[in-house]
Amino acid sequence: MEGQRITLSGAEVFEILKRTVEVRQEDFTALHALPDGPLGLLIAIVLSQNSSDRNSIRAYDRLKETTSLDPRRILELGDGLKDIIRPAGMIRQKSEAIRAISRLVLERGEGYLGTANLEELRRELESIRGVGRKTVDVFLSIYRGVPVFAVDTHAKRVAARWGLVRKGASYEEVSRAMLEFFGPERAGEAHRLVIAFGRAYCRARSPRCSMCPLRNHCPSAVR
Ligand code: SF4
Repeated sequence: MEGQRITLSGAEVFEILKRTVEVRQEDFTALHALPDGPLGLLIAIVLSQNSSDRNSIRAYDRLKETTSLDPRRILELGDGLKDIIRPAGMIRQKSEAIRAISRLVLERGEGYLGTANLEELRRELESIRGVGRKTVDVFLSIYRGVPVFAVDTHAKRVAARWGLVRKGASYEEVSRAMLEFFGPERAGEAHRLVIAFGRAYCRARSPRCSMCPLRNHCPSAVR
């Protein structure tokens, strides 16, 4: 209902989500790539934009097999990069972004992604076409432990249904509201839990309110 808010604290919701939804590595392209280091992680996040995790993981694995994620080899692929990442879709934009990230790593070294001043790194990455605020937020949250809440379509929908933001709120509004709700120390994990929760229960069409662990506290529960 308009104006009403979920009647639990962020800490309580966090604990409920931890008990009721599963964050599996194979459902999150970024987690799949995490062991490969910062360049792999950043590439994985770019590949996952507007793509199912299944398809972006396929594209990522193909790129890893072909290049071992060596930035020089990625650049040497030229136009062939598009074919390799085809399963992820939006191949023109994504291949340009991956090439630009590879050039950055070649120039500064991969360690730069882990040690650069955060503001400078954010500016540098966001200046790359095809690398937006969300991509950088996911990267900074996972790799650098920065307390930011990266907003995707699930987070947007769920935050509005919980009454934390109005419907149609901007990226910044949702990000700030979710960060305040869950608290900075939970932001990274909460981001993944909310995605898993949005997929399992709070679906865009036909949310499964009757089975939802938050149904007695949610202002949007369909009775
Ligand atoms: S599934 Fe229903 S009850 Fe659960 S959070 Fe979404 S709208 Fe609320």
